[in-house]
Amino acid sequence: MNVADTERAATRLSEAGYHLAETEDAADVVIFNTCSVRARAEQKVFTRIGEVRSYRKGREPLIGVMGCVAQLEGATIFDHAPSVNMVIGTRATDRLPALIERAMGGERRTLDLGERDAEDNWNVSTVERHSPYVAFVPIIEGCNKFCTYCIVPYSRGRERSRRVYEIVREVKRLRDEGYREVHLIGQNVNSYRPKSLEGLEDYQGATPFSRLLRAVAATGMERIKFTTSFPRDFHTDIVAAMEEHWNLCDWVHLPVQSGSDRILRAMRRGHKVSDYLRRVEAIKNAGRRIALTTDIIVGFPGETEEDFEDTMRLVEACQYDSAYIFKYSTRPGTPASKLSDDVTGAEKTARFLALERLQREIQRGIYANYVGREVSVLVEGESAKSAEDMTGHSSCHKVVNFKGNKELAGKVVRVRILEAKTNSLYGEMVTGAKAHTA
Ligand code: SAH
Ligand code: SF4
Repeated sequence: MNVADTERAATRLSEAGYHLAETEDAADVVIFNTCSVRARAEQKVFTRIGEVRSYRKGREPLIGVMGCVAQLEGATIFDHAPSVNMVIGTRATDRLPALIERAMGGERRTLDLGERDAEDNWNVSTVERHSPYVAFVPIIEGCNKFCTYCIVPYSRGRERSRRVYEIVREVKRLRDEGYREVHLIGQNVNSYRPKSLEGLEDYQGATPFSRLLRAVAATGMERIKFTTSFPRDFHTDIVAAMEEHWNLCDWVHLPVQSGSDRILRAMRRGHKVSDYLRRVEAIKNAGRRIALTTDIIVGFPGETEEDFEDTMRLVEACQYDSAYIFKYSTRPGTPASKLSDDVTGAEKTARFLALERLQREIQRGIYANYVGREVSVLVEGESAKSAEDMTGHSSCHKVVNFKGNKELAGKVVRVRILEAKTNSLYGEMVTGAKAHTA
């Protein structure tokens, strides 16, 4: 989501005549796009601002803070970091050029925490996208769920779904420009609920999201991924849509957060373990193997050893392809911040490590199963580790490296897996094979 926001900000700026500086040192304006989902991410920005200030002493650039930290902290950022000139909230991205002008004109504290303008400008120019082959397409922003630990509803505001025709038009344009893969993104993509269903008449489905998936699949875009899915709103019709359309990739990210009903209730996730497992079962029973990934928080206030054991059991049962594990971090202003953060740092670390160990073990088995099999890989570029290797993602969203040359970048190739590593696969390219087999 932050990468997509940065692309959008860069587009607004290039439209206004600015261009990206070759190096940070040469920039007249430095803008930090920030995350506040955990305390550590939030602290990082102040360290970075200090760094820029010290090496640019005497020739300081204009400094702006945009994104979630900007929205939440507002004008207090100016007191906390006096070298900051601009604070740009999460819905003010489109007004960046005007804000920079105000700051350049001498305004000392330029602040915009306002709502979006009536007509959003979602346009992102090709040159500002992070990749020439993979594009992020936001379909919904904000969040109405108010899980008790989470800051997102406060930093991103209420859920707003983009119009169907706008999304479909953007995907078609990306397809025509040569993009091979799109990621439909949002805090909870499957809560997609546009004001009008116009444009989805031809596509049947139980929820607007599964209909949108079918409409996007019909554009002929080669590979379509989507993230994140909210368990409570995960209708199994999404799986049906994936079974019908080969270009809906075989990967679902379904954050469970905890394996204990008691903790899930305290988190106000709106689902029980049994509800979650039913959805997982539908995913596992699909006509082709669909990779499953998740997010888990350890050490939520009140989490006992038994609750944690429940989470371990759930992870064992779900056999995730990968999992992001986080230690609970108190976010000021959230309902959970009023509870005592009673799981000690040492306990959180111990639970984190135990869960990580279990997940690594499970992952080893899942990855080893790929050895000898073929996967379809979108080649994204040279591997950072070896100039002889190319790297990309499989349709099941695993990092795959293989011997190859730069001309392959942007192509979808078949790779036979020879070796499984902890978080990636290594293989050899297969020529003359069909593009679309699992
Ligand atoms: N909308 C998505 C998640 C968005 S935030 C969902 O509901 O699944 C990304 C992840 O950050 C969450 O899934 C959660 O695991 C983690 N997270 C959010 N708030 C957190 C907090 N206060 N402490 C630790 N992890 C947190
Ligand atoms: Fe946060 Fe819950 Fe919304 Fe996800 S669904 S962004 S965890 S409040």
